Amino acid sequence: MREQYYYDEPYLKEYSSYVAAVNEKGIILDSTISYAEGGGQPGDRGTINGISYSNTIHEGDHILHVVDPSSFKVGDEVHIQLDWPHRYDFMQQHTAQHLLSGLMFTEFGIGTLAVHQGDEILTIETDRMDIPEETLLSLEEKANRKICENHKVSYLELSHADAEKLDLRRSIKVEGDVRIVVIEGVDKIACGGIHTATTGEIGSIIYMGSELIRGHVRTIWKTGDRAVRERRANAEVVKELSRLLSSPREKISSQVTSLLEQISNLKHQKAALEKEVAIKLYDMKESVFVSSVPLSSYQDIEADRNFAAIYTDEDRLNWLLRCEDPNVFKAFKEHFSSLGLKGGGRGPMYQGSGDKAKIDELIRILEGLLDE
Ligand SMILES: [Zn+2]
Repeated sequence: MREQYYYDEPYLKEYSSYVAAVNEKGIILDSTISYAEGGGQPGDRGTINGISYSNTIHEGDHILHVVDPSSFKVGDEVHIQLDWPHRYDFMQQHTAQHLLSGLMFTEFGIGTLAVHQGDEILTIETDRMDIPEETLLSLEEKANRKICENHKVSYLELSHADAEKLDLRRSIKVEGDVRIVVIEGVDKIACGGIHTATTGEIGSIIYMGSELIRGHVRTIWKTGDRAVRERRANAEVVKELSRLLSSPREKISSQVTSLLEQISNLKHQKAALEKEVAIKLYDMKESVFVSSVPLSSYQDIEADRNFAAIYTDEDRLNWLLRCEDPNVFKAFKEHFSSLGLKGGGRGPMYQGSGDKAKIDELIRILEGLLDE
């Protein structure tokens, strides 16, 4: 029996074997159903004799289970239990990736440069700088059709020379004998990963979007239970928006667009009103005053005298000083550290913030400077 027993029995969830070697990182078994990380697919995890192991990796020609080795010695009989939801999720991701890369190539002539099977999403980096959205939506449809048709996934174990005679979409990267995964009528490629037995087990595939990375389009997908959760989460958001806006789904987008327009108009109106208030406050001819509107409202008022305005928000005070003589600002700056102030500017307008608790002291100092 070969050490990589997972190739023979990819659906075994638990298994008994013997410890063949122990080292500081973990243990090597006589044979194992625990898949070793590779080909973009993460290694398996689970328990061995009830002790959790976090990963399975290749070590030289063997397969190492990453586990605290102190409880094991060579010759021990062990019982492995896989974290099956984790493993099956990645079997689905991996099979979906072949389905997508295969169809992308045969239907649209697009090559795959790199793939990543993440905990949340599956990404496929293509050899294109640009792919129309319709192409990727059409790919999503075709892939889901292949899932419904439930194609068989099988394997060929061939010598390197025989494998090279097959018309594969990607050159063979390994030495020696080659394991070919064949998705009936869809794809044929050299791969050391673990896949579902049929395309139907993928469940469904959702196209999530694409982005440009290193000058290539990277496409993003969700599949299996993740696709179900994604649809459910989206449906929840739509339902909630529909309730909040009292709108059917078809009208949410136009409703939100019109609300955003209203908000933008109101913001403009508010700014215009605040500016009017600022002008009125300025016209009252106080040298220093507390403003009821934000200091941005004073930015472009036509001022012909020196003044200071203070505006407080929830936790800070903001100050604005207009003075023709830079020496006035210089003198004001000498009080910065005692008043906990910050700020600066280019004459005649200076602006900054400070500690709200020091407002009375600040007013006194500004009055002193401006009324001189
Ligand atoms: Zn594969």
